[in-house]
Amino acid sequence: KVVEGEALSKKMHNTILELKGNIRVFCRVRPLLLDDSADNETKTISFPTTIEAIGRGIEVVQHGQSHPFMFDKVFTPHASQEEVFVEISQLVQSALDGYKVCIFAYGQTGSGKTHTMMGTPGSDDDKGLIPRSLEQIFEVRQKLKDQGWKYELQVSMLEIYNETIRDLLSSNKSGSTDSANKQQYAIKHDSNGNTHVSDLTIVDVRSSKEVSFLLNRAAQSRSVGKTQSNEQSSRSHFVFTLRISGVNEAMEQQVHGVLNLIDLAGSERLSKSGSTGDRLKETQAINKSLSSLSDVIFALAKKEEHVPFRNSKLTYLLQPCLGGDSKTLMVVNVSPSPSSVNESLCSLRFAARVNACEISIPRRQTSLRYLAPRLSYG
Ligand code: ADP
Ligand code: MG
Repeated sequence: KVVEGEALSKKMHNTILELKGNIRVFCRVRPLLLDDSADNETKTISFPTTIEAIGRGIEVVQHGQSHPFMFDKVFTPHASQEEVFVEISQLVQSALDGYKVCIFAYGQTGSGKTHTMMGTPGSDDDKGLIPRSLEQIFEVRQKLKDQGWKYELQVSMLEIYNETIRDLLSSNKSGSTDSANKQQYAIKHDSNGNTHVSDLTIVDVRSSKEVSFLLNRAAQSRSVGKTQSNEQSSRSHFVFTLRISGVNEAMEQQVHGVLNLIDLAGSERLSKSGSTGDRLKETQAINKSLSSLSDVIFALAKKEEHVPFRNSKLTYLLQPCLGGDSKTLMVVNVSPSPSSVNESLCSLRFAARVNACEISIPRRQTSLRYLAPRLSYG
């Protein structure tokens, strides 16, 4: 009987994975920081302790009311960068195998998006997903060399701010004040599913050291923008793109993969009083592109005929890497601070929308308990 039950739940799990297609949602809660002004006693976020929900459930309590969520994976504040990377390394590998992959970090400013993506500069243990992914790719590339594979890797990095693209690797400083030239950074997709952004700097890379160097350059370029415009980096999307082309002449095979790693703009809604003029325009642009992103993922998951890719620069840029057999991972970053509970709930609801839409079809056939289990806490 027990075995039967296990087999059934395994089967159900697989069915759900199939229906879910190629979209995964992870949640990561960062540790409480000294800056988080709060009475550390009031715990607003906790994690289930029942075996089947461990690692997948999260509960937020607001005004005494419980809001439980389930994702493909939940990382508690104790999770190290290494532990997070282990869960995504398969996805990185699939880019080498010729898939188009997008990994997003979503969340309010200060929730840990940049920490997740980049890590702490100068700390080897604390490296984020981007440097770890590149190390893995260069390591595997070296191994595949012995099997006759030759890989070429190209990197570009850009920022989308107020629906305008900025090239973060451009050596031409004057060229970075875009808008002057409307034709600059025009996005085009060719019939092979390759994306071209006119005038965007693309750099051939041969080692993860070279990429680190470029990441530093991009970070500098971002902080220049920051002084020009109030905290621009948290108000813009950072898009790191690695194009991968592999050829094996003996086997007469080729692969073309893309790995996009995206540090999204802060998802917080600004207080009404603060939102005037440029700031209001900024907020509207961010809201528009974040909701466009969820609309696109939602439409893809529901296999709708019309997917509204063109509603924002970000979704249009990533169009070939979001549909078809490409793979998407959304990492939702959450702060545990009681003062952030509203924003945390917003982020989790956004993620739940991206996540849950895909399992809405089998809800009638399969056990409701499995899909929305009652979480118990110990
Ligand atoms: P965001 O990019 O979402 O605005 P950051 O990544 O800059 O947020 O994180 C805000 C602060 O929290 C930073 O000081 C960062 O070092 C710290 N932080 C975030 N996540 C973690 C974590 N998992 N462990 C330790 N510190 C973290
Ligand atoms: Mg950041």
